[in-house]
Amino acid sequence: MNHSSSDFNALVASLVGSPTDIGSYIGAELVPGSGATLTLIDPATEQTLLQFADTDTTIVDAALRSCQAAQKQWAAYSAQRRGEVLAQLGQLVRRDAEPLARLEAITSGKTIKAARAQVAAVAEIFRYYAGWTDKFHGSVIPVPGGQLNYTLREPLGVVLAITPWNSPLYLAAWNIAPALAMGNAVLLKPSELTPLTALALARLAREAGLPTGTLNVVNGLGKTIGDTAIGNPITKKVVFVGSTQTGRAVNAAAAQRPISCLLELGGKSANIVFDDANLEQACKAAVIAACANTGQNCAAGSRLLVQRAVYDRFVETVGRAVAEYRIGHPLDETADGGPINNRPQFERIQRMIAMGLEEGAQLVTGGVTGDGHESHEPGLYVKPTVLSHVNNTMRIAREEVFGPVVVAIPFDTEAEAIDIANDSEFALAGAVWTRDIARAHRVAAQVNAGLLWINMYRDMHVASPFGGNDSSGYGRSSGAECLYEYTKTKSVWVPIAAGC
Ligand code: ADP
Repeated sequence: MNHSSSDFNALVASLVGSPTDIGSYIGAELVPGSGATLTLIDPATEQTLLQFADTDTTIVDAALRSCQAAQKQWAAYSAQRRGEVLAQLGQLVRRDAEPLARLEAITSGKTIKAARAQVAAVAEIFRYYAGWTDKFHGSVIPVPGGQLNYTLREPLGVVLAITPWNSPLYLAAWNIAPALAMGNAVLLKPSELTPLTALALARLAREAGLPTGTLNVVNGLGKTIGDTAIGNPITKKVVFVGSTQTGRAVNAAAAQRPISCLLELGGKSANIVFDDANLEQACKAAVIAACANTGQNCAAGSRLLVQRAVYDRFVETVGRAVAEYRIGHPLDETADGGPINNRPQFERIQRMIAMGLEEGAQLVTGGVTGDGHESHEPGLYVKPTVLSHVNNTMRIAREEVFGPVVVAIPFDTEAEAIDIANDSEFALAGAVWTRDIARAHRVAAQVNAGLLWINMYRDMHVASPFGGNDSSGYGRSSGAECLYEYTKTKSVWVPIAAGC
């Protein structure tokens, strides 16, 4: 199951280029950085996968200039031709699906099953936006006074996309595809912890027929690249996916220009289970809500709100099911979840579990892990954890863990469930479980969230808008709604009355 370093190097060479050339991707070339050495760690073993040099500000500026030149060419393509190129990119992702999934699994720690599903979703993302290129346009407005007034929807120019390590390829595609579809060029800055599949995607984009430089990638530490790129007048918008703390810094930097942001940040979503719900289905979904991608997922259902009449029984059942969630090596075909991506995050999860127990939560299953596996093998493996008798004022109920840790909070009435759900700085997702259809819709209407499921959890599609409110960010990054994010409107007036 383990991969040798020569297998890994061969995989990198086939999808990206020589491992010794890893750096940024500008135009059609890998451009190694010249800064501090950054080390990619295998989350399953904590062994070094690869080293590369941090980028410097001249590379960032060169990448932006290359994007700027390419964007003019790309925007001059007909809308139909842009659609064909994006559709072709989707096809190329399908062609290389298995090696891409393998590279994603090894470097991010997600399971190969999850990586395959996300690569398939990446192909679907490009297919979806390929269809939009010639369907999103301006309109004619019936103004009074013998004048014609119409709107043009124009690309912004160059968009900076900053993405995290939890679902590197999927989140890159999710944010790049609509920007490209609307005629923008993109400078992608992936996490320094997972830079490789972004480079592979940029290479495929060129093969698909994007003008050279339309999708460039800069690899290195966030602050230098972020500050340089956001400060450069070529950048016209920032889309950021990551922690709320870093999102605030990005927002502040963008405000200096000012340019607009689209922010997809943290979450602490409430999964609300009423006593009349189908508890068997609610239990299965609660496990997925808490543990999918080993909890490294901004829309995780990390607060499980359960009506008191069924609280003890339901929480115990969820505990048993979570204990059976199989954490294993990313390339293990049977694993449900993989390791945590990086050691700081691994240690943070341990600290948060310990903090919850100190605050008075009771351990149902899981708990603080020793260093690595229970079997004392290396690797950043954590035990999926359920904490019960949690009060919504505890820090473990308020702060995002970004790991497989769910807190179970009891409630008595519908109004109390809504109050607890909304008593959070975050407002990304949520779910309600009940057989009472009127209550389901009442609760759905009142929970503060960008995404709400009724009697289900976690399904998403690129056609549907996704995004949060409050500290979970702002803007919607998918569906038709996000196309407004990547275009600017021009209102054109002309007198047309006879004799004018
Ligand atoms: P995490 O995803 O680990 O919680 P971040 O939110 O800090 O961490 O990281 C998300 C992305 O933001 C990464 O690509 C990271 O390199 C980048 N980043 C980190 N700090 C900054 C910053 N000050 N400005 C812009 N981008 C940053």
